[in-house]
Amino acid sequence: MRKYIIIGVQGCGKGTQAHLLSESLDLVHISVGDIFRWHMENHTKLAARVRRTVAAGELVGDEVVEDIVRYRLDLHDWNYGFVLDGFPRNESQARFFLECYDINAVINIQVPDDVVRERVLARRLCSDCGLDYNLIYHRPEVRGTCDVCGGSLVSRPDDTEEALAKRLEDYHSKTEPVLKLFRKKELVVDIDGTPTPAEVQQSIRSALRLPAYTPSESVVGA
Ligand code: AMP
Repeated sequence: MRKYIIIGVQGCGKGTQAHLLSESLDLVHISVGDIFRWHMENHTKLAARVRRTVAAGELVGDEVVEDIVRYRLDLHDWNYGFVLDGFPRNESQARFFLECYDINAVINIQVPDDVVRERVLARRLCSDCGLDYNLIYHRPEVRGTCDVCGGSLVSRPDDTEEALAKRLEDYHSKTEPVLKLFRKKELVVDIDGTPTPAEVQQSIRSALRLPAYTPSESVVGA
């Protein structure tokens, strides 16, 4: 059983890395941001409560987020383990998590703010199939159109300059202290997130003493 948390500022590539890791090790990739986006696409009751907060790049209240994480982990569909992406994002979420669950490691993806800014503002998403693109290193063949389903590419509503500034501020003031807490427990592996996604994945595998990465799978997302 392998249980990991992946942490890093938005746009550091944690979604892509969590996807690659979970796909080849049969882990369940649990992204709290994806769960919120699913609710918003499906216009659920929860979506009505969180839409504005998420679009502004602000953190959703701890109670709501903790309920989501608890519910998701209680499904116990993660026979070989999970990669938890986007949680915990502040000290109180971290304490809640440590009281209820144990983990093998926290993967900390490090990317400077200016690189993140460039990446996030170039991020696009297919409005039909949800595939991720990036105008810097994963461009669609036809501008504005998904290579796979032909859907139109849009920006995430929270990938604006203003929302990004808020998320960077929250990351440094609220999420970095979470790392301190996990460091005390010697759970953190620091990974340079600036090389190519395949190289970053290889560094994660080496740091966690996992089988080497074979880059046969497609690399998606930012
Ligand atoms: P992400 O895809 O991880 O960037 O998450 C998108 C948005 O979902 C964030 O900007 C927050 O509004 C919300 N969100 C995701 N995870 C959390 C969390 N652990 N705590 C509070 N809000 C969250």
